[in-house]
Amino acid sequence: MFAMHHLYVYNSLTRQEELFKPINPPYVGMYVCGPTAYGPAHLGHARSAINFDVIKRYLKHLGYQVRHVRNITDVGHLEQDADDGADKIIKQAHLENIEPMEVVQRYMNSYHRDMAALNVEAPDIEPQASGHIPEQIAIIQQIINQKLAYVVNGSVYFSITAYQQRYRYGELSGRKIDDLLSGTRVLAGQTEKKFPLDFALWKKASPTHIMRWASPWGEGFPGWHIECTALATKYLGSRFDIHGGGMDLLFPHHECEIAQSLAAQDTTLAKYWLHNNLVMLDNQKMSKSLGNFITLQQLFQGTHPLLSRAYQPMILRFFILQAHYRGTISFSNEALQAAEKGYLKLINGLKTIQNMTYVPSPPINKIDKTSIAQIDKHISACYEAMNEDLNTAKLIAELFQLLKFIHALEHRLMPFYKLGEKTFEVLKGAYILFVEDILGLQAFYEASPEDFISIIVKVYEHAKQQKNYEQIDMLRAELKQRGIILQDTPHGVVWNHIGISRASH
Ligand code: ZN
Repeated sequence: MFAMHHLYVYNSLTRQEELFKPINPPYVGMYVCGPTAYGPAHLGHARSAINFDVIKRYLKHLGYQVRHVRNITDVGHLEQDADDGADKIIKQAHLENIEPMEVVQRYMNSYHRDMAALNVEAPDIEPQASGHIPEQIAIIQQIINQKLAYVVNGSVYFSITAYQQRYRYGELSGRKIDDLLSGTRVLAGQTEKKFPLDFALWKKASPTHIMRWASPWGEGFPGWHIECTALATKYLGSRFDIHGGGMDLLFPHHECEIAQSLAAQDTTLAKYWLHNNLVMLDNQKMSKSLGNFITLQQLFQGTHPLLSRAYQPMILRFFILQAHYRGTISFSNEALQAAEKGYLKLINGLKTIQNMTYVPSPPINKIDKTSIAQIDKHISACYEAMNEDLNTAKLIAELFQLLKFIHALEHRLMPFYKLGEKTFEVLKGAYILFVEDILGLQAFYEASPEDFISIIVKVYEHAKQQKNYEQIDMLRAELKQRGIILQDTPHGVVWNHIGISRASH
């Protein structure tokens, strides 16, 4: 199927929309920068993960075999994204009085839990930077061999001046060296650098720095940017299809990744560089370093002062997908509540159509050609929306158009025969495909399974009072099939688990 589509994506590297042509179809390699595991995930993390999850789901639908790599940064990410200052993980370890790797594990686990709640598929490979120190050292060595990096006092720096002789620093972000220089303050401790814009590939560890590894240049730790070049290259090759991440990573992180990759292996790493836009709060980027963030757990539980109540993970997913991935999203309670209404409409439509089967009825020759043509048009428009740089906002608008037909069928305003069985099945298939498989929206239940069982217990008690033995037997049999047994005790009816046809021992 992949040969037939015309998917266009906006490539940040060329600043234009380009036809998506993978290097080695049907395989697609996709690398997305993952979190630095030193705190709970917030709305900004959710946005990047959800946007790239939908891109991955759509590529798979088109027939591609996607290998999705998302790293965990657990070393070398310093405060203010700078080359000096405390390591974010180590600082958090001091605050919580635990080991750095305990910090990493704690927030990696909570990140995974939050992503699962948002129905974000797990990546195919999730490498940790700390587990790939030799790979990072090897790439640094390659850059030194190319004479594009230099060693000072146990640290290694990337040389922008030498790089400029062969390539152009700023290719991705469009930033110019002179402008960057005028914005650079030379701080104490940066004096090791030959040129203010040079960045660290390897840092010498101070005697008290706990996360340290042996290297050809002495004991130290890798710089923040080198991990992504090393991890992407290791699992996807030195040239692959898509590199993704938030717009806030475009400079300096991705600019430096490209510079390192050109320096070491003469490639820009990925063919297409895709960037999702940010979640804004009062016209400011929401981020942990700015301190104006809402964590996902706060959102799911309604515990942040800015929240008027809790919001289900699926409402956040819909809220994010209502915007095109390159547009900004402004957070507000009103916007979330509007998203909730839209989500519920779409998901109730999903439930309706999933349970709906075609009802043939005479006269079968009276099909409604206008409605059939409209349905075809809206389904084509769903594909067009996704093919136009993955425009989920437009896709959702088209799904609401299809929903009108589902409602018309549901409320018997339109008899099934007017669509004909084929169009009905096409409508059903397309709606389920786009809502569930591509947008990844799911129904959620406010009630737990236990709540449902207690309702059944009430029905059972009522049936007993009525001496409705047929219903009692039916309820007992249905529950037994699901591994639950009801027992009458002097204190009322209780339920217990029983094994479901498990091998006895
Ligand atoms: Zn990265």
